[in-house]
Amino acid sequence: MGEAQPMKVTAIASGSKGNATLIQYKNSAVLVDAGISARRITKACKELGVPLTSIQGILVTHEHTDHIAGIPQLIKQYGWPVYSRLGTIQAIRYKYNLPESCFVGLTKSTLSLGSMVVEPFKTSHDAAEPMGLSCYGGSTKATVLTDTGYVDDAMLRHVDDSNLLVLEANYDPQMLKYGPYAPMLKQRVAGPEGHLSNEEAGRVLVMMKRPKHMSVIMAHRSENNNDVRVVTDTVDKETAQEGVYVDKDFTMYHGQPKEMVTIISEGEKV
Ligand SMILES: [Zn+2]
Ligand SMILES: [Zn+2]
Repeated sequence: MGEAQPMKVTAIASGSKGNATLIQYKNSAVLVDAGISARRITKACKELGVPLTSIQGILVTHEHTDHIAGIPQLIKQYGWPVYSRLGTIQAIRYKYNLPESCFVGLTKSTLSLGSMVVEPFKTSHDAAEPMGLSCYGGSTKATVLTDTGYVDDAMLRHVDDSNLLVLEANYDPQMLKYGPYAPMLKQRVAGPEGHLSNEEAGRVLVMMKRPKHMSVIMAHRSENNNDVRVVTDTVDKETAQEGVYVDKDFTMYHGQPKEMVTIISEGEKV
């Protein structure tokens, strides 16, 4: 009985300088990546009114610094367990010299964390064992998919039916091509183990099974090879040409390096 509870997803920070996302449902929360300082994460939780004791742990998508920089201090301060694939755990432990007891390997297809169920899935990125993940709370689904060079059918099936989605729109191919990066780095970003372009993100929104009133945060935007206007215009164009429309079929938000952006599952607003 009682009111349906909303699920909330907050991009605390998004971009190549640091990523951290908080997913809340009922009285528990999980952090997805912690690539910013423990101080900033603590401050964000206070601002959001999320008790630090409600945080079940940190789910890490992969070991690049912009996703893990805050982890040693967060472990020290709060003792939150860190969940990831075994290859990722190994890489983080090696990098920061952390004991095995701080980590839990995601070896099964799902994991219960507080009031949520987490379902990791493989992505394609130049890291040890990169993953995206979906989080289920009641009938609501939230998915985080960033840092992947492409989105294949298997990934799309995990994105399907996400009421809340954090989706990478890293670069504009023209801006990358004529931008300041060295040729090797350009190749890496655009390659199959790099990042998702605005066009590719738009195609995900077209191809996925979209629930009614879905919200998406376009995330991990490059500061050099992209900007909010270009993301908006490109996603608008890519989706509209397939009969899918911003504001009608989905609501679009933009992750920011230094400002929090929250999306709340629709029809269940508090
Ligand atoms: Zn990465
Ligand atoms: Zn990244």
